Amino acid sequence: MDLNMHLPTLLVTSIMINLLIGGMLWAIYHLRHRERCFLLWALACLTFVAGTALAVVNEITEAPGLMQFTVHLALGGSPLLLLAGIHALMQLPMAGTRGSSRFLYGASLLYLFGLVVSTGWDPVAARFLTALFSALVFSLAIYRLAYIERKPRLPLRILQTLFGIHGTLMMAQVLVIAVSVTGSAPLDLHGLLKLILVNHLLLVSATAMALPLLAFTRAEQALVALAERDGLTQLFNRRAFYREGNLAFEKAREDRSLITVLMIDLDHFKQINDRWGHATGDEVLRIVANLMKAELRDDDIIGRVGGEEFAAVLRNNNREAIEAVTGRLLQRIVEAGREVDGVPVHLSASIGGASLALEHAAFSDVMASADRALYQAKDNGRNRAEFVTASAAAKY
Ligand code: GH3
Ligand code: MG
Ligand code: MG
Repeated sequence: MDLNMHLPTLLVTSIMINLLIGGMLWAIYHLRHRERCFLLWALACLTFVAGTALAVVNEITEAPGLMQFTVHLALGGSPLLLLAGIHALMQLPMAGTRGSSRFLYGASLLYLFGLVVSTGWDPVAARFLTALFSALVFSLAIYRLAYIERKPRLPLRILQTLFGIHGTLMMAQVLVIAVSVTGSAPLDLHGLLKLILVNHLLLVSATAMALPLLAFTRAEQALVALAERDGLTQLFNRRAFYREGNLAFEKAREDRSLITVLMIDLDHFKQINDRWGHATGDEVLRIVANLMKAELRDDDIIGRVGGEEFAAVLRNNNREAIEAVTGRLLQRIVEAGREVDGVPVHLSASIGGASLALEHAAFSDVMASADRALYQAKDNGRNRAEFVTASAAAKY
């Protein structure tokens, strides 16, 4: 298993790279409003450095058991800090009632107990325990990453693969030690150590790149959501709705397909606010947003374009289907209004619809047509939908 490498060089390289990456993560922690995951990952690197440096001193001076114990505590603690960083990134508590957390606590206690018993007495057993514990923590990290439901998934997959390779090599170390103890093969500890150091070097360098990538994509997604979504309903805000609508308009023109725009305005909403309070008004807006999400298709574009005004772009121009959808939506809005926050708010809405027609030169023209149809619905007594037909659009 000798990799034909100079062990001291490898150790120094490992220490240097971990120090550099730990320092970089520490700097990111300070630059990014003290996001805790970076601190924990920096500490994981520095703990590994401490463990490796102490292991070298230990080798040279044949230090007492307490020193060996500290070495293993640092080497076993490093993956634990990495896992804690992933928890911090996902805003999960390190402790929890979930089965895996209890399992981790149990394993950590057993590991500590095993270290106390074995160090000073059997260094090989301590090494065995540290490798086993690390493999277990890496497996848990893979499991945790699988629970992050974020796109893009590439940084997650990269991390899972890296942790998988590392965990497997740790398990290989466990097996090699086990085999050597049973006497079937001699134990080449130096060769093994080199293999692990090389492996760790690769892991830590690649992880150092993948972890910030994961954290940055998460932060970017949160910022995009803040910029594009309406805080109350989580629908597209006006700006994002117009952007998406423009794209759908261009695409429909290119494909010679058709889209329909719906404008939905709640009836006498001011009275609801005045009579039942602003909080109930807000709850009504959330309910209507959810009804729209439920009634429309996933690929339809839905936005809150004004206070109590919603809009949708449907990638469909079948009048019958659209009338069925709007009819159902109006009915469900009335049903939902029978009781909101324990009071009867008597809710209804008016809808104006316009399908893409030749006279529409831009998306805003289709919106304007739908808006005119909406006014007609209001004029015709509210709680109803009116549509602008393609040929009629010109005369509005
Ligand atoms: P119409 O049937 O003609 O549409 O009458 P309306 O009362 O719905 O229309 P109007 O435009 O007079 O009033 C809209 C109200 O919507 C006024 C405003 O206070 C309320 N509003 C706007 N944004 C919000 C919001 O975020 N939350 C709440 N609770 N109310 C809002
Ligand atoms: Mg209104
Ligand atoms: Mg309005």
